[in-house]
Amino acid sequence: MIFDTHTHYDDPRFDEDREELLRSLPGLGITRFAAVGADLESSRRAIGLARRFPGACAVIGVHPDDTAEPEALGEERTRGALEELAACPECAAVGEIGLDYHGEDIYPDKVPRPVQQKWFRFQLEFMKERGLPGVIHSRDAAADTLKIIREAGGKDLSLVHHCFGYEKEMAKIYLDMGHFLGIGGVVTYKNGRKLKEVVQYMPLDRILLETDCPYLAPEPFRGRRNDSRRLVYVVQEIARLKGTDRESVERITYENAVRFYRLREEDQ
Ligand SMILES: [Zn+2]
Repeated sequence: MIFDTHTHYDDPRFDEDREELLRSLPGLGITRFAAVGADLESSRRAIGLARRFPGACAVIGVHPDDTAEPEALGEERTRGALEELAACPECAAVGEIGLDYHGEDIYPDKVPRPVQQKWFRFQLEFMKERGLPGVIHSRDAAADTLKIIREAGGKDLSLVHHCFGYEKEMAKIYLDMGHFLGIGGVVTYKNGRKLKEVVQYMPLDRILLETDCPYLAPEPFRGRRNDSRRLVYVVQEIARLKGTDRESVERITYENAVRFYRLREEDQ
């Protein structure tokens, strides 16, 4: 059984076949997935998906690239919106939240760093207040991400570093805090050497399997629309790197995800 811990099935790229695709997953062994929000509206859609599909849960929050929205709403109204979402029984975590400094020189509308940092801190506090785990998005922002996570409590926080893309040294710091690392299609890429090293180094019981679909399809589908069915290629590569079998990778990462999202097996 496979648990896809990070999906964006609300994306318009699934409009054609969303229903059919999601209904087919349990029969293919993908019995659970987490629908992750990137802004308030997609967080509402994530709750809606989790409500409709058995075995699904929702992650609600504002991605760093979308923090212009809470910045315009203000703290009170943003808190109100997050509280409403977190009150839904389908809500399993806060995310994806963090920092994204990628492409600052290319995109003139990139949300300024201080704004991203403010809402990252705000949502970490919200997550702590609600006693929820958190899903971290961090790109080209290793030092500031670590600083803010440490200030917010470090090892006292239950976090997954989604689509982990930093060096082994940074992986060690987060693993020492007891956090999970999200591993997906990038581990199959020929230029994914850094991530392959991280996977070889880290214990299997801290890996969460994820697609981040529709993004980051594994080889041999790189560049195409991704979905949970492609996770078998990620499982295969992790098994190869760890010198173990696919069944162990599936079973252990599944248990990790159930533990991280604090789900009960009988809820499925
Ligand atoms: Zn994502």
